[in-house]
Amino acid sequence: MVASAMGKTVASKLPSFSDARRLVEEYASTLSPTQPEMLPLLDAAGLVLAEDLCADRDFPPFPRSTRDGFAVRSADVKTVPIQLRCIGEIKAGAPIEDSAIAVGAGEAVEIMTGAPVPAGADAVVMVEHTGRSGDAVVVQRTVVAGENVVAMGAEARLGVTMVERGTRVNHTIVAIAAAVGRPEVSTYRRPRVAILATGDELVDINLRPSPNEIRNSNSYSLAAQVQAAGGDPMILPVARDEPDDLALLLRKGLEADLLLITGGVSMGKYDLVEQVLASFQAGIFFTGAQIQPGRPVVFGEVKLGARTTPFFGLPGNPVSTMVTFQLFARPILDSLSGALPQPLPFAQATLKSDFTSRTGLTRFLPARLEGSIEKPAVELIHWQGSGDLMAASRANCYIVVPPDRERFAAGEAITVLLM
Ligand code: AMP
Ligand code: MG
Repeated sequence: MVASAMGKTVASKLPSFSDARRLVEEYASTLSPTQPEMLPLLDAAGLVLAEDLCADRDFPPFPRSTRDGFAVRSADVKTVPIQLRCIGEIKAGAPIEDSAIAVGAGEAVEIMTGAPVPAGADAVVMVEHTGRSGDAVVVQRTVVAGENVVAMGAEARLGVTMVERGTRVNHTIVAIAAAVGRPEVSTYRRPRVAILATGDELVDINLRPSPNEIRNSNSYSLAAQVQAAGGDPMILPVARDEPDDLALLLRKGLEADLLLITGGVSMGKYDLVEQVLASFQAGIFFTGAQIQPGRPVVFGEVKLGARTTPFFGLPGNPVSTMVTFQLFARPILDSLSGALPQPLPFAQATLKSDFTSRTGLTRFLPARLEGSIEKPAVELIHWQGSGDLMAASRANCYIVVPPDRERFAAGEAITVLLM
């Protein structure tokens, strides 16, 4: 769906949310990340692996007891209670020779969590299910072969890929890198994301706004979102609603890997972003989508010399900017970061209260999800529309309102988008 770069297409021609998202995902799949670099492990957190992490040994490296208790032959404890003879003890970290004790029929070895299960034994009885008196240990519960033991190499065999290239490094990946002895890992460089706010009413946050002005919050919220998504934000000076100023700053922004523009993409007389982008011969993939907030969102690319830069024109209302970043800009940023495609984090919850909505647009409304194991429940946050930052700050998800229904009743299941 390529629309005119000038002005908005009529509403019914706009792509649906799913179509717009698909266009972005298709474009994202054509992008490649920049050169990898080696980073100290903790500096890599939040970035994307440019290499596979492989097992440098078997995991676990020996049959590991998962309990404190007694290593036994499961065949010996088919009927309980039964008395066995304790012939030794193995603690975690004890020399591996300690686990060379062979457990014979009628015998047991006292063992601790994380210690190697000795030869002959095929299961561990939890200490809670035993009684001890000198060498004699009475087993009160049966165990089956393999119970409370993780076999050598059961988690990963020496040499196998434990984490794939393209995985974003979170604390679990840090743990694996640490476990395979990698104080440094290869990651892709953070993509540089230029952020350009537009509007004559905007002043920077270190200035006192006149009565007719407001502070530029979008550049900062976007920079925080970019940073959290593993990008390197570059905040440009605010562009005035004036073509020459806009063109100058757009050109600067197009030097980045991705350009995010906020404001100036609606139907207003001074919404000049698309007009100025047209002067750069921008290719526009969509201009507007059937969503709310964020309907005027624009997605396209500009070729300048050898360089092609994707850009988004995000609507200026602060909540629209945030939502459209998550819905559309995130996949581009992920792809430029080298990350494998990530689905949006949708979940289902029970609606706490009735509400009504107009049909026609897929809505993403700020909401609060409350955790309960039995029935996670979600409630809309009362808001004054997509400029209402206070309401957005109380939300921890969006209720996703489908475009084809008007009435939603308390108790029904509804989709939410986690933030
Ligand atoms: P626009 O998309 O330019 O029509 O702006 C829509 C609304 O968002 C207006 O109320 C603007 O004042 C407000 N707005 C635009 N840009 C920003 C920004 N960078 N920070 C905070 N509010 C903004
Ligand atoms: Mg504006």
